[in-house]
Amino acid sequence: MDRIIATPSYTKEILEKHQMYAKKNYGQNFLVEPQIVEKIAVESLLSENSTALEIGPGIGALTQFLAIHAKKVIAFEIDDRLLPVLDDTLAPYNNVEIIHQDFLQADLAKILADESEVVVAANLPYYITTPILFKLFESDIKIKKITVMMQKEVADRFSAKVNTKDYNALSIVSQYNYDVQTILKISKHVFNPKPNVDSAVVQFTYRPSKLVDNEEAFFELVKACFKQRRKTILNNLGEYLQDKEKAKVALEAANLDSKRRAESMEATEFARLYEVLHDH
Ligand code: SAM
Repeated sequence: MDRIIATPSYTKEILEKHQMYAKKNYGQNFLVEPQIVEKIAVESLLSENSTALEIGPGIGALTQFLAIHAKKVIAFEIDDRLLPVLDDTLAPYNNVEIIHQDFLQADLAKILADESEVVVAANLPYYITTPILFKLFESDIKIKKITVMMQKEVADRFSAKVNTKDYNALSIVSQYNYDVQTILKISKHVFNPKPNVDSAVVQFTYRPSKLVDNEEAFFELVKACFKQRRKTILNNLGEYLQDKEKAKVALEAANLDSKRRAESMEATEFARLYEVLHDH
């Protein structure tokens, strides 16, 4: 067995050897608890034939365990300083491909064209957790299993139910095609450097929905209805359609009280509104 990257002592040694320091603006907090990292890697796979797509390998803590347990790893890293580090730490593994690119710019269809059983595994950079997940949920490529670490308070939004403070557009978009489950709670003490808040690992399992015919347009409507949380559905929809009268008529036809707020609406109610708008 090769030396485990995700230990406090080896991580320190790697950082010193490469004269590296963690960059805050790239959300760099490296995991230094091997049992947790291995558990995330193992839980993220469907089988040993899975290809793991990783966002932000850092110095390779999770990548190493993915390389051990999966068929292949494709990892996107934005920070060019980490490329020689990863070359060094992951040298024993010939099933890892590192792509030096901002994940938000990645062409997933192209990169995953030859892969069959793709899963996502990542300790996400916290400053872009939401855009990364929207990109995955809105992609035409439906990834069967997504297992990601994020700040605990963000994790709560994904499983949030209607009429709670955490319920928002992301809750509906994520739950639309996925079952959501928090599989691990993680203390801030298992990172170098230590973040200010605790984290959680959330797993999304694909369960396709047929509620509407055009997901993209539906998600756009949902986001627009949540645009200003304190505003009524009539006001947000009126702004989105640039026509308050049309919004009023649509809400009536969908049998929805125009004074309600988006946070009180179930996905099925948004779907009813969507159908009315797209019937015309
Ligand atoms: N996976 C490593 C671990 O668990 O120790 C590092 C996780 S660290 C929280 C987030 C990683 O994402 C960093 O390596 C950072 O450089 C990288 N990153 C930040 N923004 C990125 C982006 N837009 N695209 C790809 N990687 C990014």
